[in-house]
Amino acid sequence: MSKAKPIQIMDTTLRDGHQCLIATRLRTEDMLPIAEKIDRVGYAAVEMWGGATFDAAIRYLKEDPWERIRELKKCMPRTPFQMLLRGQNLVGYRHYADDVVERFIDRAIANGINILRIFDALNDFRNLKTSIKAALKYGGKVEGTFCYTISPVHNHALFVEMAKRLEDMGSDAICVKDMAGLLSPYAAFDLIGKLKKAVSVPIHLHSHDTGAMAVSTCLKAIEAGVDIVDTAISSLASGTSHPPVETIVSILKGGKHDPQFDLTLLAEIADYFREVRKKYKEFESDYTGVDPNVLIYQIPGGMTSNLTMQLSEQKSLHRMREVLDEVPKVREDFGFPPLVTPMSQIVGTQATLNVLTGDRYKVITTETKNYLKGLYGKPPAPINEMVRKKAVGDEAPILCRPADLLAPEMDRSKEELKEISDNIEHIISYAIFPNVTREFFRKTQGPVKEAHLPSSEEAPSSEVPPLLAPTEYNVKVHGETFHIKVGGVGHPVEGGKPYFIYVDGQLEEVIVESLLEVVPSAEGKIDVRVGGRSTLPKSVHDGDVTTPMPGVVVAIKVKVGDTVTAGDTVLIVEAMKMQSEVHTSISGIVKAIYVAEGERVNPDEVLVEIRPNP
Ligand code: MN
Repeated sequence: MSKAKPIQIMDTTLRDGHQCLIATRLRTEDMLPIAEKIDRVGYAAVEMWGGATFDAAIRYLKEDPWERIRELKKCMPRTPFQMLLRGQNLVGYRHYADDVVERFIDRAIANGINILRIFDALNDFRNLKTSIKAALKYGGKVEGTFCYTISPVHNHALFVEMAKRLEDMGSDAICVKDMAGLLSPYAAFDLIGKLKKAVSVPIHLHSHDTGAMAVSTCLKAIEAGVDIVDTAISSLASGTSHPPVETIVSILKGGKHDPQFDLTLLAEIADYFREVRKKYKEFESDYTGVDPNVLIYQIPGGMTSNLTMQLSEQKSLHRMREVLDEVPKVREDFGFPPLVTPMSQIVGTQATLNVLTGDRYKVITTETKNYLKGLYGKPPAPINEMVRKKAVGDEAPILCRPADLLAPEMDRSKEELKEISDNIEHIISYAIFPNVTREFFRKTQGPVKEAHLPSSEEAPSSEVPPLLAPTEYNVKVHGETFHIKVGGVGHPVEGGKPYFIYVDGQLEEVIVESLLEVVPSAEGKIDVRVGGRSTLPKSVHDGDVTTPMPGVVVAIKVKVGDTVTAGDTVLIVEAMKMQSEVHTSISGIVKAIYVAEGERVNPDEVLVEIRPNP
């Protein structure tokens, strides 16, 4: 039986809570007003960084994620800050070189992260070596983590072995990461009991409520002696998120595990987030409430909302069921990887492609190819040879620690970013997400440096004509406020002088294809015009290369006049955060290229024209 000890609770609202329920869109400005109250609850830690929040901050919110740690720390001096780190993948989707890992962890801790929950999607602990070492070196606490999953090759004895190894690697605590909410209450009782016997460091349970088991699972885990459990505030809890803290606190009230939290304070925090959540209505997943299918499909919280978003982007939301059916098949082909980032994205996107193209593995993402090569580490079970052959041919799989193959990356990032910033944190962001970070700077700084812009305090210089209208606005659309700012002045063009403006929030995606022109008129009003791109020719010939799905062209691999062979890669298109190679179906000569890198493209457009040799 467990001893009398108050359960420790970590709050996940500011990271996993909104990551699961509103696609990671919660802004720092919506965290700060309530931060002081969260700090008073008595949580063992607040998880407020890492996972998808880093990417989402730069990609969608145009916020500097490093700034979030510093801002929150000012309002939350008492409670330790925790982050989720994907081992060698950091907060991204591929393996980064050791020097990036080390600098990232150094800066995360220096900015205020106290505890790092470190995992690898394949439970290949070679991929945790560098990050655990770095976290300990820079004074962080390490929660060595294994991903809980159910498959023919996973069992409790194996998980206990993993926990022992994590303890040997220097972990200050062990986390059971049940990212999909698959851990049943009785399985938890058995597993936690065994873990408590096998290791001496605290055990921390992270479980999702997708199948509505998480409250019971926490309770049985507490009975079995677990030390810390994860919860979220009720208004951002349940469903694909975590068990509500108020429920756990109330169940334990007066008993030997009572954490003695103030329920009135928790109610105030819940009220706050209930209101705030309304602002993010458009990011709510269509799959809310209890999803018993999680037990069949093993889809983690974040993945369900991502699949929904991806399919909506592809205008194929009605095919969700087919994709959910395809996911376990792809997983089996891939050797039963736990479905957690980046494996959840790799498996999810490949399953989506298999369904949308109507031909399994016809289009294979670069990430799938890399996984099948062994670049993510060792899969839990052998992978389907036919699929591997299709993706990588006769190439021999990689058997070493994948990061051993990577040359240092920091110097190159520094060099590539030097025109824009020499700030170490910006360089790290760039090393992890080069395109997204470049776009972030383009959007937030504009094509002309801010310093060149006339501000209200500044006398207009002779080079830059004064704007007759103010340069910043708050525009309300359906109750949501968007911050609009005129960011820079371009070269004069026919019909006026373009002003580059950037728009806060989701309108970003709308203006991505085209430059907005803002022309101040004599009355001081601003006239906004949206420039467009001429429509690309529609696909008609055999040699017309098209994208299998809407996305952005990230690389063009051919030039006009090149000779190509059927199957050669012509373009690389990024869709759903994954890159896919687009091949030519015929051999011939490149006659025309209709797109540029960075352009958004659709399946019915001809991107490159290839004609057979005469
Ligand atoms: Mn989670």
